[in-house]
Amino acid sequence: MFKNLINGEWVEAPGVTRNINPSDTRDLIGEYAKADAAQTQDAIAAAQAAFPAWSLSTPQQRFDILDAVGSEILARRNELGDLLAREEGKTLPEAIGEVARAGNIFKFFAGEALRPGGEVLPSVRPGVGVEITREPVGVVGIITPWNFPIAIPAWKIAPALAYGNCVVFKPAELVPGSAWALADILSRSGLPKGVFNLVMGPGSQVGATLLDDARIAAITFTGSVGTGKRVAAACVARMAKFQLEMGGKNPMIVLDDADLGVAVNCAVQSGFFSTGQRCTASSRVIVTEGIHDRFVAAVVEKLRSLKVDDARKAGTDLGPVVDASQLAQNLKYVEIARGEGATLAYGGDALEHNADGQPGFYMRPALFTDTTAGMRINGEEVFGPVVSVLRAKNYDEALHLANDTPFGLAAGIATTSLKHATHFKRHSQAGMVMVNLPTAGVDYHVPFGGRKGSSYGPREQGRYAAEFYTTVKTAYTQA
Ligand code: ADP
Repeated sequence: MFKNLINGEWVEAPGVTRNINPSDTRDLIGEYAKADAAQTQDAIAAAQAAFPAWSLSTPQQRFDILDAVGSEILARRNELGDLLAREEGKTLPEAIGEVARAGNIFKFFAGEALRPGGEVLPSVRPGVGVEITREPVGVVGIITPWNFPIAIPAWKIAPALAYGNCVVFKPAELVPGSAWALADILSRSGLPKGVFNLVMGPGSQVGATLLDDARIAAITFTGSVGTGKRVAAACVARMAKFQLEMGGKNPMIVLDDADLGVAVNCAVQSGFFSTGQRCTASSRVIVTEGIHDRFVAAVVEKLRSLKVDDARKAGTDLGPVVDASQLAQNLKYVEIARGEGATLAYGGDALEHNADGQPGFYMRPALFTDTTAGMRINGEEVFGPVVSVLRAKNYDEALHLANDTPFGLAAGIATTSLKHATHFKRHSQAGMVMVNLPTAGVDYHVPFGGRKGSSYGPREQGRYAAEFYTTVKTAYTQA
């Protein structure tokens, strides 16, 4: 059994989670510890005990550790990418890219540990000086989803440690392999015991314990809207700091003046790659009338050429859906959209086996046309390779449709018009806006996050991460 890491020791848990390969459900990747509330409390106690010393560790100590962790991740990117593709189902190139991103994130925050920001100002009173400094917040509870099994943990754990916090990390149950591998690297990095703890287990036990424990100063969460609201309610009730990244229904606008090849690439990349299982995936493509039919024909042609197969096989474009319940949800939405009168232009059916007869959670990507704003398929996040096309008269209507959603994570536009691109960047109600680029696929050194119902609290990643992982102190001195 792959064990949990608590206070620098690998410990068995009361239960076991079986990690299954979605590309071949006969393939058991391993058995992983499944903690309960009591074991979670042990981890919280260890983190709390480690905090006073770690919060005063030197920037050099933190740099050395985070830099070494980043180096090991990067050196092992192929092996860790293979594990990630095997447990999550994204293709091998995507998985290796994700691992490299995680390595780079650790390198970035190693540098940030050396650059703590601060200000020195004269007071408005004579002879008084004012210093504004940042201090760590304490023990941070980190709760992550299954769709980026190493990058999301990295972009929460690295800044937490860089700014002097201790961590209790609870990964998603579907992808314990990547989480364990990351914890293994951290356990050998020179971190004092208790600074970083891994507690694999169910959200209802491990997650819920983190939310309610007064020793956890801050919770950073990425996952569903429903769980995010629970995190918020629990944290507000005990005045803990929190940060949420949740769902999206991201739009991609295609204007008449777009380069057709660019537009098709943006839509297909954003909507279908990583099997549509990205928070930044665009699931609504809003197309103006003059290019609509040509665009749809080109997307369907492209979809026909995509190979749905084992995530780790060379040449696979789309891997399987992550598990049976996500596949069932995708298929349910295909039926809902049909029932609402949308036209299924391509795909949408489950494939029980790949070409080699491996049983897995495969599905052909689904494209719907003739959809309208009021349909559920355009209002609710599917989180699969299911994309709907909406027709718009002109840019103004397209912009209105793009913003007509309770979410606001990412939004894209394909256009050769500087005027429309500039207007869209300012008037899109999303936290991240892409021009002639897919909505998914972002840099690791700049802020990530959304508006409206997609996110809550400070941005993640880049220098903006300091806002969540530190608390500001203002000190006055009379010399
Ligand atoms: P997803 O659809 O990505 O699985 P979830 O919100 O269910 O979205 O899961 C995201 C993370 O939240 C997972 O690590 C999950 O175990 C955890 N989680 C689920 N339920 C709870 C809960 N009640 N309290 C805290 N964490 C939870």
